[in-house]
Amino acid sequence: MQPKISKDLMLALAIFLLALTAWGIWGSWGKSFLGDASAPHNPSLTAVVGNLEQAQTPPTETRAQWIKRTVVRFFYNPFERLFKNIIFTIPFWGVLVLTLVLERWIPAEKDRKIFSAGFRQDIVWFFYEPFLNAFVVGTYVAVLTKLHSVYFPQWTCYGLTQMPVWLRIAVGILVVDLGYWIQHRINHAVPFLWKLHALHHSQTELNFFSDFRYHPLEYLVRHTFVTVPFIFLRIDLPVIVAMVIFKDWYSRFYHGNIRTNLGPLRFVLVTPQSHRVHHSVEREHHDRNFGAIFSIWDHLFGTQCKNYHTYPATGVPGEKLVGLELGDVKNRLKSPWSQMWRRLFGHYK
Ligand SMILES: [Zn+2]
Ligand SMILES: [Zn+2]
Repeated sequence: MQPKISKDLMLALAIFLLALTAWGIWGSWGKSFLGDASAPHNPSLTAVVGNLEQAQTPPTETRAQWIKRTVVRFFYNPFERLFKNIIFTIPFWGVLVLTLVLERWIPAEKDRKIFSAGFRQDIVWFFYEPFLNAFVVGTYVAVLTKLHSVYFPQWTCYGLTQMPVWLRIAVGILVVDLGYWIQHRINHAVPFLWKLHALHHSQTELNFFSDFRYHPLEYLVRHTFVTVPFIFLRIDLPVIVAMVIFKDWYSRFYHGNIRTNLGPLRFVLVTPQSHRVHHSVEREHHDRNFGAIFSIWDHLFGTQCKNYHTYPATGVPGEKLVGLELGDVKNRLKSPWSQMWRRLFGHYK
């Protein structure tokens, strides 16, 4: 028998989550909104901003300086950001504790332990992700910005920059969220991309850290649809930065093992219930609920699963997860690399 939770309570919790995240964003990013966008606190966005600046200044450095900068950028910076900008922040502990409390209180899978095998495995991805992100996203965004500044500057659309601030923010948020929706849709539609994206879907015990298990090549698809509109439409940097940070924390929350559809908010937002359906093993749920923050695109394009009360099992066939046992740290540390390799060269449907 599931505990009965009123919709009002769910709504209050959702608002609490939104407020907590907004507070975190403002605390970390308030200065950016006031014009200082020089110290972003997000691994992927730091790479974006760093490379935007870099693309605009031609390199006049010696080989030794280049080596030093590369080592700092790819090794030291991700390490620093992991601790300083993720682990030692209020949003991290706020959203993690909220997710774990709700997992305990209203679990989608009742018999699952909080620190399950899946949770322990995805924590490893959490520690690898900033480094993978710095390598892949940093390099790719540098290439994109360079290509734009050299070959396509005439395609830049300045219409957005002429609009009032509130409209710029609203359009920026919608464009970026739509970018997320489109890349997710494509990841499911193109067989090779699905093979990579299925790594994210292969977790049978969805949890807070499942949002870190992505094939690094999937970042390329994502940033094509998030960074390119950002560059060409001149979306304000603080808008996209705040948007991506909010999306990151919110999606970590809705990957939790939580039994809620957030009441009426489900018609606007992605929820733990709707994203569980997205990860479902059931055929009827496949290719549904692609949203990142808003569910409006799924409603608009007819991909929303209208059953808001089902909490199916999750996972994909064919993935052999290893390193799940409590003491098997060695295999757990190795398993992300073998999973990434098999997704590239293994045989999956
Ligand atoms: Zn997916
Ligand atoms: Zn997911």
